[in-house]
Amino acid sequence: VVLSRAFDFGAADFIEKPLIRLETELRVQSVLSARAHYLNAIEQASIDPLTGLPNRTRICERIDGYLQQSHQKLVPSVSVAFVSMEGLKQIYDVNGYAHVDTCLIRFSNLLREYCENWSPAWVGYWGGEEFVVVWENLDAADIEYAAIPALLAWCTEPRNGQAASDLQRIGIGWVSVDDSYTHADQVARDAGAALHAARKQRKDGVRRYDKSLGEAIRRSYQIKRELQNTTDFEHFCVAYQPIFNIQNRQLAGFEALLRWNHPELGSISPNEFIPIAEQSNLILTMGEWVLNQVCRQSIQWRKEFPAVHLGGHVNLSRLQLADPKIVSTVDQLIKRYCIHPSCISLEITESMYMQDLERSKKHLSELRELGTHIAIDDFGTGYSSLSCLVDLPADSLKLDRSLIVHIDTDKRRRKMVDSVIRIAHDFGMAVVAEGVETSAQSEVLKSLNCDYVQGYLYGKPTDPELFSMQFINGLGINESSMQFESSLHGLSSIPNISLVSNNYAV
Ligand code: C2E
Ligand code: MG
Ligand code: MG
Repeated sequence: VVLSRAFDFGAADFIEKPLIRLETELRVQSVLSARAHYLNAIEQASIDPLTGLPNRTRICERIDGYLQQSHQKLVPSVSVAFVSMEGLKQIYDVNGYAHVDTCLIRFSNLLREYCENWSPAWVGYWGGEEFVVVWENLDAADIEYAAIPALLAWCTEPRNGQAASDLQRIGIGWVSVDDSYTHADQVARDAGAALHAARKQRKDGVRRYDKSLGEAIRRSYQIKRELQNTTDFEHFCVAYQPIFNIQNRQLAGFEALLRWNHPELGSISPNEFIPIAEQSNLILTMGEWVLNQVCRQSIQWRKEFPAVHLGGHVNLSRLQLADPKIVSTVDQLIKRYCIHPSCISLEITESMYMQDLERSKKHLSELRELGTHIAIDDFGTGYSSLSCLVDLPADSLKLDRSLIVHIDTDKRRRKMVDSVIRIAHDFGMAVVAEGVETSAQSEVLKSLNCDYVQGYLYGKPTDPELFSMQFINGLGINESSMQFESSLHGLSSIPNISLVSNNYAV
């Protein structure tokens, strides 16, 4: 009974009295060697076998140790960086795993040597292509302007005429650990998020974690979850922005712009939620929903205003353009609603088209065979290559607001827009200027033979009822234009746009 209680309390062995010297020695040796094995096993479990660096478990233990000490104000400051070896996938694709392992070992040696020079800094291996570097006693400015540049230089500078390692680029995301952190996984989460942002921004591949990054990540996650719960697009609607023929001053059509009024998050811009919807197939359902709304609304307007023929511009996502079902979806919709296909202009951007050239080309020509029009959106952003005008089968070209904004004051920009309009016309494309905000811009565009204009000067995106009242019925346009321009520039002049609708020819 006594023995069993002793074991219950943690005894590892026992020895009977009277002691026999040899037996005692052997038993003590055996206990000590078992303990050494045990400690060694623990040590091995916290070392990565490939690089010989502390592994994830050990890294987290050490960071947790700092956090405890820092809450007791025992350590001055700690910064943690996630350092990634970019381009490993390519190395793997070309040379296979063994070479990747060699690269990881060489890179870990470089980081180890670096840390020796920046003592008390240390490095661990997080996994995959990611390492963790921890600096103690350095403030944020030292990290940003000295420690990180030195790390980049050390790992990338050639030695004996050879690259230090096979890496093509290094990504670094780092965080200054402060009192708000209680666990290592929070520190790793934020340094990892900063690394992810660093990889995306591509400038120098280094990013410090700050509150705004955390908020953006949380908001994006929240939007993603809310989007996943969206089944019937309950809080979504389509806003319609008028497009006018600048030469004959008549309403020509509209651009359909998706809106999301979330009950708690408020109004969320499509610039924010479309890229998130594009991370899943939701964008396809969403895009179809918009097309359906636009067709239904067009029919409604045709019934209400039989003499008015409006052309509707609808933005396509790159995933919609690549979707094998896009042509049949559009075909079914125009048939179901008995819409003339030329009343629908599908807006795509140059970058969407370039991403999957062959497939985009095929879908675009099939869509044009149906009779729908294609518009190149946001021309003037991205590469805006002239070959895109030659190659891309399109009916109209939309000049981005960035080209329009200084058109009345900047002669060179005006000249460039002039040339683009001429080229587009030579290729049989109509030109729509986006984001026109002042009558001065409008005058210049008219003199340059631009065909259509769209912008706050003529009308903001609005709900269908207001659209019919303001732009089809002719109520309120002058008022809204005047309000916008005078609020912008203190001007009272208004564009001379009449409200008679015509056949849409873009
Ligand atoms: P976009 O297709 O280039 O649309 C034009 C954007 O400029 C719209 O922003 C519009 O409200 C805004 N805008 C129009 N006139 C003016 C102006 O005079 N001044 C200024 N500052 N802005 C003006 P919005 O509605 O926020 O849409 C942003 C982008 O989101 C759109 O750019 C389009 O790329 C995308 N988007 C909107 N709706 C959809 C949709 O249904 N499907 C897809 N795939 N993308 C959409
Ligand atoms: Mg557009
Ligand atoms: Mg645009």
